Amino acid sequence: MISVSEAQQLIIKHSSASKPTTIALKDALNYVLAEDITAPIPIPPFNQSAVDGYAFCFNTNNNSYTIVDKIPAGDTRKIDLNTNEAARIFTGSKVPENCDTVIMQEFTKVENNQLFIDDENLKTGGNIRTKGYQIKQGDMALSKGTVLNPAAIGFLATLGITEVNVFTLPKVSILITGNELVTPGEKLDEGQIYESNSLMLKAAFEKMNISPTISYLKDNQEATTNAITNALNNADMVILSGGISVGDYDFVQQGILENGVIQIFYKVAQKPGKPLFFGKKENKAVFGLPGNPAAALTCFYEYIYPYINLSFGLKQAFLNQLQLPLSKDIKQKPGRATFLKATTDFKTITPLEGQNSDALQSFAYANALLLTPADATIIKKGELVNVHLLP
Ligand code: AMP
Ligand code: MG
Repeated sequence: MISVSEAQQLIIKHSSASKPTTIALKDALNYVLAEDITAPIPIPPFNQSAVDGYAFCFNTNNNSYTIVDKIPAGDTRKIDLNTNEAARIFTGSKVPENCDTVIMQEFTKVENNQLFIDDENLKTGGNIRTKGYQIKQGDMALSKGTVLNPAAIGFLATLGITEVNVFTLPKVSILITGNELVTPGEKLDEGQIYESNSLMLKAAFEKMNISPTISYLKDNQEATTNAITNALNNADMVILSGGISVGDYDFVQQGILENGVIQIFYKVAQKPGKPLFFGKKENKAVFGLPGNPAAALTCFYEYIYPYINLSFGLKQAFLNQLQLPLSKDIKQKPGRATFLKATTDFKTITPLEGQNSDALQSFAYANALLLTPADATIIKKGELVNVHLLP
């Protein structure tokens, strides 16, 4: 059995780069840029007033100017003033060509159309956002690999950009196995449980912008193998839930291998999620997740989430990690690294009650996974432990 870090190294080694595609900026939230973007125009595109006040050519021998014009924001006229002239101006207005300074209206007095300035701190160039001070035309605006968050989308819009080249999101097919499973909303008979992994995994993918398709399989070899064939024909990633262990009704591993998928690893020395399977068929990835819901979701965050981020070339592909002191003792059987559902205030980390691989309630409250070392038997309060922040 391989270790968590060996398994994660294999995820890195076998990641495949996603193809670029062009989409509208308005649809690009959370996509990752597939090319550098240079500024097509300077920002700001002209000398802009930063305040409401008066524009003029600063002349230290003079503290009185004749007001000859009024320039609202958006006024596109080309205006020239004489040395002793000023113009009323507003935040965002274009500063006249030969004016070098704007004074805030709070520091002025106006009498009979004469402007008197009263600001000892005013310097030439004051209160003007000069053309291109934020970014010059042709300079790098955002680099390849940048995640398009709301600020990035706003910034590209200020540059007048309407389309962006981004990495394609993978097509994901989720296959749910388990004869005992009943869809929520239907009647539950004794011995059956409600099926939860499909909605849970769909939600986890949707947080990454990805809308997976979902199919439900009966626990038999033929149905499993055929569903995997079909999924491999239609998707870039195939995610199986359940049926990957060694029970009499576990048909997933054979079904995957019968489809010509190369096994990269099967079984990781971790708790939960020991029977995790990862394989590849050319550029397509296949993950066999354990059926226990908390195990399946842990494997999603630790292996599938980084696999997808790596395909976008993200430097931070895995969950953000830090080390924090433990708030109470942990005891464990040595042999497998354990991912514990935990909460952190970023000063300490506290494992939650309810760590079984089927228990989702604690996961719902968790904002982090705490990873214990495989060989530990007791970790004491105050010791530093590895914390993986949930996205
Ligand atoms: P398996 O990995 O198929 O052996 O399933 C392990 C445990 O997880 C069993 O108790 C299953 O009933 C449960 N389980 C499997 N798939 C799901 C699912 N989609 N939703 C909820 N529980 C599941
Ligand atoms: Mg099963």
